[in-house]
Amino acid sequence: MKRITAVFLTFILLLGVMTGCVNNKQSDNGEGNELTIFMHFWGYNVFNNDWPIFKKAEEFTGIRLRGTAAETISDSNQSFNTMRANEHLPDIIHYTKGNLNKIGIEGALIPLEDLIDKHAPNIKKLFEDYPEIKRFATAVDGHIYFIPGSLSGVDDKQVPSTGWFLRKDWIDKLGLEFPTNVNEYYNVLKAFRERDPNENGKKDEVPYFNRKAGVSALYQLFDVFDGMYAKDRKVRYGYATPEYRYAVKEIARWYEEGLIDKEIFTRGNQTREQLLSINVGGSTHDWFSSTSVFNESYKERIKGFSFVPIAPPADINGVVKEMESRSALHGLGWGISKDNNKVNDTIKYFDFWMSPEGRKLASYGVEGVHYTEENGKIKFSDEVINYEKGAPTYLRNQGQVEFGTIGSLEAELIAMNEIGRNGFEMYRKNNWCQIPFETDLIKEEQDVVSAYLNDINTYAKEQEQKWITGEDSVDDKWDNYLKTLDSMHLSEVITAYQSGWERINVK
Ligand code: CA
Repeated sequence: MKRITAVFLTFILLLGVMTGCVNNKQSDNGEGNELTIFMHFWGYNVFNNDWPIFKKAEEFTGIRLRGTAAETISDSNQSFNTMRANEHLPDIIHYTKGNLNKIGIEGALIPLEDLIDKHAPNIKKLFEDYPEIKRFATAVDGHIYFIPGSLSGVDDKQVPSTGWFLRKDWIDKLGLEFPTNVNEYYNVLKAFRERDPNENGKKDEVPYFNRKAGVSALYQLFDVFDGMYAKDRKVRYGYATPEYRYAVKEIARWYEEGLIDKEIFTRGNQTREQLLSINVGGSTHDWFSSTSVFNESYKERIKGFSFVPIAPPADINGVVKEMESRSALHGLGWGISKDNNKVNDTIKYFDFWMSPEGRKLASYGVEGVHYTEENGKIKFSDEVINYEKGAPTYLRNQGQVEFGTIGSLEAELIAMNEIGRNGFEMYRKNNWCQIPFETDLIKEEQDVVSAYLNDINTYAKEQEQKWITGEDSVDDKWDNYLKTLDSMHLSEVITAYQSGWERINVK
């Protein structure tokens, strides 16, 4: 029996060699070099077969990806669930860590540990050099179902993403100084509202605005955390603290005084364009690179227009900090589905994106098209750097999206204009960014969180809006609010997070 097997194996191996002669881009089943991929995230990033960055990767790997997600669906979760419901899955599934781990444990993705060990030296080395990345990629059942990634390198534990922006030309016009704490910030917003800095004789200024619905960025000025956090080794829910009660009352007053965009809960993603282009927006809290671009966009339309990053105003306790940094890992990645019959090719393809060539391609795009290199110095092309919506947006349209590769911080910095880069570096060098709240939940804890947290957040956000807009009074509703949160199992969620937090933050 053994012997027959051996002969049969030899035959198979020979067949493999013969096939290899015909097709030197050898694949597991000896045919085709195309892999299907599901990629649809944040509502607008849908895999595009024509992305130049991925077409270039085909030259390195011999593998062509073909997207399966329809752009006609705008809801990424819906698109993912539709894909998941199919009997036959695409070869590669891209999405968030939480979703990939979930469907991995359910059996839709295959465990990758052995494949990495055999065929993916670059991924293996990454996991060895950065054990925290391996831990990040490991599901609660101990398997690795997806390869994570980062846009800007993994050497900084957290990277600035957002900061405070203010109309410097308005500050100068009104003879003010940059605000250094929450009270001064309030006074600046008040002056923007009252003293007609756009000089049209109308009280049309919108001192504070944000394209993200709600006022969550302002909470850090009151030492309130947006969601779960740990203080004195105890996990808390930011929206159920006395600090929050105080903050929401204060911010409701700002709103009533006209310091906050009346449409802040609904205006949406185009808020900056809408309010800055007509010269009424005064201040926001947003991403450095995309927000600094408006200095170019509106310099001709609005005389003297200068929208610059400032240091975070100190909070009510006098602490200067920035809470909205990002973890080095963006939390998106890709895995191999149970229906993939070219798993070796696929893991090798994944590994290419962790190789120096792959990482460079992901960071800078295609040499000669998106950038040139002279004496080791990389320069983006004029088309990239002068794009009206900023270089990151330009590169995103070329395929520079979040997936299982590690980008470079240097690339991100040279893609920014000087104003954005100065802001980014100011926040980075001063170490203002707080370490994001991280936990390591086991399955039972994750189940508790999955069962209750969404509803809790939805309820808290609904109540928040009523308080900010003055529909409800904080003092009248606070006790009832806490009782409702309690009835929604908040304390069980906090207990689950507490154990998950202690698992990483060992005493
Ligand atoms: Ca005005």
